[in-house]
Amino acid sequence: MPESPAGRDAAPRVRGRFAPSPSGALHFGSLVAAVASWLDARSRNGEWLLRIEDLDPPREQRGAAEEILRTLEALCLYWDGPVRYQSRCTHLYAGALQRLIEHDAAYACACTRREIAARARVGVDGPVYPGACRSGLAPGRAPRAWRLRVPAGSIALDDECFGVISQDVEREVGDFVLRRADGWFAYQLAVVVDDADQEITRVVRGADLIDSSQRQILLQRLLDLPTPAYLHIPAAVDARGDKLSKRTRARPLKRSKASGALFAALQFLHQAPPLELAGAPPAELLQWGRRHWQPDAVVPQRKRAAPAQWR
Ligand code: GLU
Repeated sequence: MPESPAGRDAAPRVRGRFAPSPSGALHFGSLVAAVASWLDARSRNGEWLLRIEDLDPPREQRGAAEEILRTLEALCLYWDGPVRYQSRCTHLYAGALQRLIEHDAAYACACTRREIAARARVGVDGPVYPGACRSGLAPGRAPRAWRLRVPAGSIALDDECFGVISQDVEREVGDFVLRRADGWFAYQLAVVVDDADQEITRVVRGADLIDSSQRQILLQRLLDLPTPAYLHIPAAVDARGDKLSKRTRARPLKRSKASGALFAALQFLHQAPPLELAGAPPAELLQWGRRHWQPDAVVPQRKRAAPAQWR
């Protein structure tokens, strides 16, 4: 590896990322994740990369990716390097799946959703696969999806906000899907491959994904990839406690309201921006945020209500 210009004692490079799914326009919940990861990376003079997670066409909205980019620009949340689109990286996910299959860590599964629902108990993230195809497909059954053969034992996430959260992935999640029956690669596999391939050192995202982290750490170990630092922030929810999303009809962020939204995001993250800064241009708010970023001030709450006007 080439030595960095600053010499061998230079601190390792910091690289964060924001990885929205183009299922709709940016809303307050996704803005908070973008702002937190930007502040976290920029306060350490790190790079901040943008990745569009477009691996779920049925849930995508035409033009949403472009809309997200334009909104980030209006917010002055500029990214480094080219935008990465997962749909253009499928060869990397295929390669990782192949390595897992060769090590007998992944297997083909013929079960339909209905068959699984009839026999499964419910874990932290839906039905726990009952294992029907774990030791091979029954005669006459055709493979549909690929699953990870999850080893016994627990995996600990050491989160910078929430502390240590251990999960017995086999018991609480089960053999999860790596490649879906419709041929698309699953989020868990793609995110791990991309975070490693893009050399991400810090993952900052909403706590709605916190229970996915142990699956991701497990995959990193099986694929011999490094584990980045993790910092989860409260997921912004509506009055009913549901995560803001297209389904909850979260209000799309208007570019003309960039300053107010950024101020509210800083407050949501407990960064206590001075009131005189209300109404300041986005670049100024972000510069203040970058200089004063205090990850310790973020409260380890899985959910936090978004201010009513931003839901
Ligand atoms: N694409 C995911 C989402 O929009 C985020 C994935 C991640 O940050 O790991 O919820």
